[in-house]
Amino acid sequence: MARDPRYDILFEPVKIGPVTAKNRFYQVPHCTGMGWLRPRTLAEMRGVKAEGGWGVVCTEYNSIHPSSDDLPHPSASLWDDGDIRAHALMTEKVHEHGALAGAELWYGGARTANLHTREVPMDIGSFPNLAGHPFQTRAMDKTDIRTLRRWHRKAALRARDAGFDIVYVYATHGYLLSNFLNPRVNTRGDEYGGSLENRTRLVRELIEETKDAVGDRCAVAVRFAADEKTGEDGVPIHGERRDMFEMLAELPDLWDINIADYSLEMGVSRFVKEAPLEPYMDFVKSVTSKPVVTVGRFTSPDTMVSQVKRGVTDLIGAARPSIADPFLPKKIEEGRPETIRECIGCNICYSGDTIGVPIRCTQNPTMGEEWRRGWHPEKIAPKTSQAKILIVGAGPTGLEAARALGARGYKVMLAEASRDLGGRVTRESALPGMSEYARVRDYREQALLGLPNVEVFRESALSAEDVLDVGADHVAIATGATWRRDRFDGERFVSIAAPGTTPEILTADDIMAGRMPSGATLVYDEDNYYLGGVIAERVKQAVVPVTLCTPSDSVSDWAGKTSERWRIRSHLMRAGGGIELAHSLTRFDGQHAVLTCEYSGAEKELPVSSVVMVTQRRPNDGLYHDILSRAGGDPDALPFTLKRIGDCEAPGIIAAATHAGHRYARELDAAVDPDEPLKHDRVDVG
Ligand code: ADP
Ligand code: SF4
Repeated sequence: MARDPRYDILFEPVKIGPVTAKNRFYQVPHCTGMGWLRPRTLAEMRGVKAEGGWGVVCTEYNSIHPSSDDLPHPSASLWDDGDIRAHALMTEKVHEHGALAGAELWYGGARTANLHTREVPMDIGSFPNLAGHPFQTRAMDKTDIRTLRRWHRKAALRARDAGFDIVYVYATHGYLLSNFLNPRVNTRGDEYGGSLENRTRLVRELIEETKDAVGDRCAVAVRFAADEKTGEDGVPIHGERRDMFEMLAELPDLWDINIADYSLEMGVSRFVKEAPLEPYMDFVKSVTSKPVVTVGRFTSPDTMVSQVKRGVTDLIGAARPSIADPFLPKKIEEGRPETIRECIGCNICYSGDTIGVPIRCTQNPTMGEEWRRGWHPEKIAPKTSQAKILIVGAGPTGLEAARALGARGYKVMLAEASRDLGGRVTRESALPGMSEYARVRDYREQALLGLPNVEVFRESALSAEDVLDVGADHVAIATGATWRRDRFDGERFVSIAAPGTTPEILTADDIMAGRMPSGATLVYDEDNYYLGGVIAERVKQAVVPVTLCTPSDSVSDWAGKTSERWRIRSHLMRAGGGIELAHSLTRFDGQHAVLTCEYSGAEKELPVSSVVMVTQRRPNDGLYHDILSRAGGDPDALPFTLKRIGDCEAPGIIAAATHAGHRYARELDAAVDPDEPLKHDRVDVG
């Protein structure tokens, strides 16, 4: 189909200094958990984005010297000429598809502890490590500043030699250069501190020197925050940022604008919706004649057009939308925007960097698997037989398996016990703020409409007999998991009901099904991710006093990896919920919950009439075992192959469910060696 002319503006080329982006789709620098550790994995992933139509594809933060080392968070590097060859793997793939490649040069300052290289980190002063490591930086003297400029220049030359078309001066996100700009941080007495002009000096020098080094061939971009410090969401505190911007406005070839509050810029959808940066951009375009890019988790082409037409930005910056759907631009270009796999704003992608493992994505199960498993987000091998496949359960696992098998051309029957498809994402998306999670279902439901070979049977709770009667060649059980009423004490699952009592102990599933407690309630969270906090908010909406208790030292501890922990806790505090940390719930009699301190073992009582458990889940694998038992426990004696997949096999995050469903579809008839299931990206010594 031809593209809608309303979207033509998005496909206009944009001149950026000496290079030209073929369209306005710009994948801004984003971390991947790959960096210099996994160059092949990285190159293939970035290449797929270029194939999907992004006009510009950038690296992650790219260290210019070993004294800026972020491991265990894997940055890219331009430390020596060996890095040139590694980056060339990426730039060649990006260029194959007519896209520009961008390299973001980075120096961490007090945010890096250099745990890997053991080089002494440098910053403006002798600052504590801002990631909480017990190290301080060395205060940079003027020799250090000269040295840093030399490293930056050398890295820019290497970036050019690796084939990059855009080279960044990275002056935001609390890294070294942003500290030089910051009036509260930079109180140096020399010509690099104090006055606005002095604080801006180093960034100006780096822009000029990068232009001098590579500007004949590469565009020079600056990543810059439009506001001075974090305030209320959507209400910028510009401070002197505009003055600073005016001083530098015409120096680089491109401005990449973001903001001081990373938890808003990179906000999870529960708290932050599309285009949150717009209020912060109010002065930018009027001050510079250079092209501007900014982000906003843009997935709607109408929003993108509106941003360009109203002069908010020239280029549509995207990290997460390009991860969830590397083919987003192509889908708009080919007149099928309804097939875009929209980001749900869960930030699981970001957890790759925080944990130090390759990126994954809830919506896009092929993300990070392009090289090692050879998965492509839009291409999948056609079927190799006339086999009929039955999938039981239409949660994210079953839906993705059915979609991908359907795309392969197989005849698929998808049976779902309830009227609604989506399983856990349908239930969770009805909780406060969580509506975008329904996109996991909606994308797949929409895709199934175009696949007549996939039949969907709603309100069809299948028994083992039913499954045997279907006469399928392959059966996948994707029946999910159920939240438990007990808890894991470190060694075994134990009940919390006080002996001889039958108190009201609800689970997250009860709350999602609308069964609300009526009196003071304790939400007990051993899951430690987002759900405990959301369930507490939901219960609070029922005008019930709520306390959230967890054995962890912090609320929603794992959500620190997705950059939402701080917002979950402050949101809960604002809503008036109580918080009990580092305590296990050990007994409940219907009137008092007994909380045991994780450190001292001391017990205290909390007067509540209900408890909601958000602890662990029990796989719904009864059907799987029933079917197996019909064959005496021997799967080979069944007239079909049988597999349990997703939460039914091992409960996990939604990204694990879509991955499991996708994997089932890919490997149904593929010869995968279980002993060596994937390629291993590492330094190969032969
Ligand atoms: P996952 O995350 O692995 O997809 P979910 O719990 O989200 O798991 O989804 C499992 C789905 O399976 C639910 O929608 C549930 O209604 C459905 N289901 C469970 N048991 C059966 C059954 N016997 N027959 C059909 N559907 C079932
Ligand atoms: Fe979006 Fe979540 Fe995928 Fe990240 S992991 S791109 S936030 S859907």
